[in-house]
Amino acid sequence: MIDARKLPEEYGSMVFNDRVMRERLPKDTYKAVHKTIASGTHLELDVANSVAAVMKEWAVENGATHFTHWFQPMTGLTAEKHDSFISPEDDGTVIMEFSGKELVKGEPDASSFPSGGLRATFEARGYTAWDPSSPAFIKDGSLYIPTAFCSYGGEALDKKTPLLRSMEALSKEAVKMLNHIGYTDVSRVITTVGSEQEYFLIDKEQYKKRKDLLFTGRTLIGAPATKGQEMEDHYFGVLKSKVSAYMHDLDEELWKLGIPAKTKHNEVAPAQHELAPVFETANVAVDHNQLTMEVMKKVADKHNYACLLHEKPFEGINGSGKHNNWSVCTNTGMNLLDPGKDPGENLPFILFLVAVIAAVDEYAPQLRLSVASAGNDHRLGANEAPPAIISIFVGDELQKILDSIEAGDVFKSSGKVKMGMGADVLPHITKDNTDRNRTSPFAFTGNKFEFRMPGSAVSVANANIVLNTAVAEVIKRIYDKVSDLSGDALNEKLKEVLKEELVAHKRVVFNGNGYTDEWIREAEKRGLPNLKALPDAMPHWISDKSIKLFTDHQIFTKEELYSRYEILLENYSKSVHIEALTMQEMVQKDLTEGIISYSKDLAKEIAGKKDILPSAGCVLESGILSKLDEASGGISEKMKKLCEDTKKAEGMTDILEQASYYESTILSDMDELREYADAAEALIPEKYLSYPTYGQMLFSLR
Ligand code: ADP
Ligand code: MG
Repeated sequence: MIDARKLPEEYGSMVFNDRVMRERLPKDTYKAVHKTIASGTHLELDVANSVAAVMKEWAVENGATHFTHWFQPMTGLTAEKHDSFISPEDDGTVIMEFSGKELVKGEPDASSFPSGGLRATFEARGYTAWDPSSPAFIKDGSLYIPTAFCSYGGEALDKKTPLLRSMEALSKEAVKMLNHIGYTDVSRVITTVGSEQEYFLIDKEQYKKRKDLLFTGRTLIGAPATKGQEMEDHYFGVLKSKVSAYMHDLDEELWKLGIPAKTKHNEVAPAQHELAPVFETANVAVDHNQLTMEVMKKVADKHNYACLLHEKPFEGINGSGKHNNWSVCTNTGMNLLDPGKDPGENLPFILFLVAVIAAVDEYAPQLRLSVASAGNDHRLGANEAPPAIISIFVGDELQKILDSIEAGDVFKSSGKVKMGMGADVLPHITKDNTDRNRTSPFAFTGNKFEFRMPGSAVSVANANIVLNTAVAEVIKRIYDKVSDLSGDALNEKLKEVLKEELVAHKRVVFNGNGYTDEWIREAEKRGLPNLKALPDAMPHWISDKSIKLFTDHQIFTKEELYSRYEILLENYSKSVHIEALTMQEMVQKDLTEGIISYSKDLAKEIAGKKDILPSAGCVLESGILSKLDEASGGISEKMKKLCEDTKKAEGMTDILEQASYYESTILSDMDELREYADAAEALIPEKYLSYPTYGQMLFSLR
């Protein structure tokens, strides 16, 4: 256990961070690397050589024998291939070597990663390129180098490349705009992200007995426990001592890797927990979230737990999300979403607030798609999670500002362009008096927006790619309308343009309860899209509007968009397919075995009683037996349908049609089968079942 007094020293001890570089790199090299990180410029090979030598020395001192380029292909997971530092000498000994070229560039075989048809097999080579803005680290005896991954032809095959591109695009447009309104010292704008991570912990031995959890991450059958989350006794509840030990260990592992884990608590559902880090630059935060998920699983294993990161592991209780807290900050330290003391006078804030509202409304389908997966579809729209309709919560105070903008209240100019909101004296908006709304998918929370739609398993890269790009587009549009103006004319025009944007997009602002049926009807009236399932939403990814947005800002080429379209659809179909097969297997083998052996015992019991006392009614036993028989009949019928439909699905060739079929037919077949399976399971004593029940999994942790 880390000695708390030593934490400042131990923190980041496995990270090749700025402090290590400052201490170890020659001054010129350090400066060059720093410039690359701070301004996103290219790094020369001689500098890379110098960094590599020092990095290797540091890594070896800290026990690393290998290095790996670490990247995020479109599987949604991370990928790594380890090479050792050894280089054999003539005399039978080895020396440890690591060159600048090895640091900067890797050439993994890309043919086994999803590419959505981008990469023909004869061009199987892919490249990984060092991302110096995300620090290298040591894990399990290897030096991990965060990299971007692209094809031989230069197309992005990962989530990091477009994320970095989107951060650049937003920076470019924001800097231009801020310079124009008087903030001439701003030269770079950084996206910041803090992603809160929810997860479940269950007993490892129990986990191993459930094929559905093992193969699909979620339970496909399972009668509800007699207790759920209705007592509201788990959220923020006392941490059980073993769980607390797990969380402690997890924090320590994360801290060593320089991941600023900050908050931990029990969540709403039984066995559900949350971890929140301090926010970081978006690409680092995304890397760190991927690592956090991995470390969560690893530490769980050590503590005899299984950590479930699926968005909806259990029916009938809350699923898990990953709140993406997002803001933009200038190199001069200004948080552009911080309302400050006088939000009505804070033009950068107002500009960005309006831009975010416009961007989220205009590109709602793309934002919805950025978090779409087979797993997350079970969560969005269920009543614990935000609905699939995207709306923005701003709260009462900000609503007043928006109202003033619409009413066209006066601007005051004094040096830097300022915006007066007239007579409304608005209190300083602090985190404490910003109202809370837990039902909004996109909520303003004091000095940032919190996007609550991402599921617990997803990489938050996509959400930030879409968000950054959409906001960049709106900022650009506003800038283009005022670029040739200055002074009062600029003020006047800005006021007009912001008002126009707001009037056009205010339909997305909703401060009420997003979980009600009234809101669903109201949203429909407002014309807001309600894209419940991935296949319905998917065509928006390759719409003309989407292609224009992403190609204009050079985030994705058209080919890259199409490749991601294919990958998402295929991944969706494959996931549901595996679920359908797993469910058939579990019902056919595990549940059926339980039904048969219990039925046999019941029948034996009834026969035994009749032997002793021929007039015995055996009401209870016979009742259970006939209920089991009834459920078995239903199971058999629904199994047949699921089996036949799954075969049909397998034969389909159009990927969109196939995904839609999985969504509309296979998932509902599974629901119908589950109803009978759960009815049977509810009757069977635990000892007849080869797998643990909901009650055992959710309530047996100490
Ligand atoms: P809440 O209770 O509203 O969720 P927290 O203070 O717990 O508030 O913050 C949640 C997450 O938001 C944390 O990960 C935090 O680091 C992150 N966060 C705070 N400020 C920013 C910011 N400016 N940009 C991005 N994320 C932020
Ligand atoms: Mg939060």
